[in-house]
Amino acid sequence: MALREIVTEGYESLSKISKPVTSFDPRLELLIKDMKDTLVKADGLGLAAPQIGVLRRVIIIVDGETDQLVALVNPEIVSASGSQNANEGCLSIPGVWGRTERPAEVTVKAQDAQGEWFELTRTGITAVCLCHEIDHLNGILFREHVIEYLEDRD
Ligand SMILES: [Zn+2]
Repeated sequence: MALREIVTEGYESLSKISKPVTSFDPRLELLIKDMKDTLVKADGLGLAAPQIGVLRRVIIIVDGETDQLVALVNPEIVSASGSQNANEGCLSIPGVWGRTERPAEVTVKAQDAQGEWFELTRTGITAVCLCHEIDHLNGILFREHVIEYLEDRD
C-alpha cells in the first residue's frame, strides 16, 4: 500500500488541465492503486490525479450504487440532465463546505485500467462526485459551483 500526499488549494496542479492517458501499462495500474489507497485513507468520496500532483486524466470515485471504488480513465460527461443541490467539500480544500448546484443525473464515458471503454449513469451524490472529480481534470475547483458557503463542519 502506497499513500500519496494530497495537495491543497494553491498548489499548481489543481489549476491545470490534465493530459489524456495513452499508455495502459503497469505504471497506470500503480497510479490507480495508490489513488485508491489514498482515497480510502482520507475517507473521501472521490480523488482526481491532479490532487496528488499528477496531471493525468484519472479519477477514482466511491460508487454509491455498489459501494465499490471505480477507476475512470479519460472520463467524459456524455450527457447530463436535471439539477440538484449538494453539500460539497474537497480533500484539497479541507474544512470548507458549500452548497452547490449540479446535474441530477450524469452519464460518463471512460476507460478502465486496461483501456476498455465503459459507461456509467449515476444520480445523487455519485453524480455530484463524478462532476466534481472531472472538474479537477480541467483545473476547476468546486468553489466555482458554490451558491452559498456552509458553516465549518470540521
Ligand atoms: Zn475535490
